[in-house]
Amino acid sequence: MTIQFSDLGLSQPVMQALDMQGYKEPTPIQAQAIPPVLKGRDLLGIAQTGTGKTAAFMLPSIDNLRKADNNIPFKSCRMLVLAPTRELAAQIAQSAKDYGALAGLKVHSIVGGTSVNKDRNKLHRGCDILVATPGRLLDLIDQKAFHLSGVEVLILDEADQMLDLGFIHALRRISELVPADRQTLFFSATMPKQIKELVGKYCSDPVTVSVTPAASTAERIDQYLFMVQQDEKQALLEMILSERHQVPGKFERVLIFTRTKHGADRLVKKLSQVGIPSNAIHGNKSQPQRERALAEFKSAKTPILVATDVAARGIDIPGVSHVINYELPNVPEQYVHRIGRTARAGADGVAIAFCAEDERAYLKDINKQTDASFERLPLPDNFRAVVEGVGPTKPEPRQPRQRVKPKPRGASADRMNDKPQGNRGGGNRRRGGKPGGGQGQGSGQGGGRQGRGQRRGGRGRSQGSSQG
Ligand code: AMP
Repeated sequence: MTIQFSDLGLSQPVMQALDMQGYKEPTPIQAQAIPPVLKGRDLLGIAQTGTGKTAAFMLPSIDNLRKADNNIPFKSCRMLVLAPTRELAAQIAQSAKDYGALAGLKVHSIVGGTSVNKDRNKLHRGCDILVATPGRLLDLIDQKAFHLSGVEVLILDEADQMLDLGFIHALRRISELVPADRQTLFFSATMPKQIKELVGKYCSDPVTVSVTPAASTAERIDQYLFMVQQDEKQALLEMILSERHQVPGKFERVLIFTRTKHGADRLVKKLSQVGIPSNAIHGNKSQPQRERALAEFKSAKTPILVATDVAARGIDIPGVSHVINYELPNVPEQYVHRIGRTARAGADGVAIAFCAEDERAYLKDINKQTDASFERLPLPDNFRAVVEGVGPTKPEPRQPRQRVKPKPRGASADRMNDKPQGNRGGGNRRRGGKPGGGQGQGSGQGGGRQGRGQRRGGRGRSQGSSQG
């Protein structure tokens, strides 16, 4: 029997807000997490973005805040949500407002790169829910403009990413500043050793809910691989985006990853030179620039966005049809996060990786550490001739490989198919079309591509749960 929201014990105002959102039934993490959180238990959620985890922590917490009905503390908050990036913080704050629309709770968010004075004024009278990035929060605490003694519920979202961004000391400090009798909900897509230590620091006897094994890629994402020389990548990308080389899936929005900020800017420039408009989003862009790039991507005015890992974390935009790993990440877990930008909220998605000779080690690490499963696609006919017309791509500086750990349990044994066009029975299957066969001279993006075909039969998202 499928679990309904009405089975979970949520209040009427929250149920009405869910109705307004058009959510019909809870996602697995919501079904598993909401009842224990409503009871006040600590929670460890092992889940990727796209699983509905924001609602999983926000809905029951809103109800708990309403029930407790405590006053808003001066210069503090009742619920604190820590998030790694500005984009994710903005999205969580928006969700808090959406889900709590009828609960009358005061929601604020504070992130780096904006005016501290404004934040100070905003927080003077306190709030019910504060969504913050750790750095800005500590800034305000150090200035005595904010304190954490009012916190009843603490949420750490994407804790592994906070660690990757160097927030470990901030998180250790914050753990000392929050009241001991709070409730803690801790979310992470992966569980490296440092995260386990933090869980021990923050949580007390948590209920564990896991909706995907550590470092597993969503099942609804079909993953493809081009083995392509570094100096051919740009030509290949141009051919794919202008539909002179067909890849599976119908383009809607395309998110392209580079390893460096400079590489992202350079790619945007090169694409614009051949009449393909795109935007870049990375840490050197100002907040208004990032917001504009995201807005144009969301509205599909500019449906091609080139991003670095940090900037892309937290991008929750429905309709990302393709993620292209123009450069492979040197941290294998990043691959999982990157491709998780597609196939959001029940949709399918396509992930395409470009792997150059000197990136084979990164590919190997991805295969070792995640359950990624690639189908290799052939390069276009006469490709070298096209490349020579484009000119060489400057190679990215190589970076050290990071954190090679043993393969997680349950990882698929079905690894990269190294044979061109090989089809592993029952695994990834190209949907319609014949890569390399499309010789149409289309330009720009959107429309006109082959249909996506059907989803792979009988494969849902992998779900497992354990309560402890
Ligand atoms: P999250 O994993 O929290 O980033 O959520 C991913 C996406 O799923 C967001 O766009 C949510 O609005 C959407 N979502 C969350 N819960 C549900 C639900 N029960 N039904 C449909 N969509 C949902």
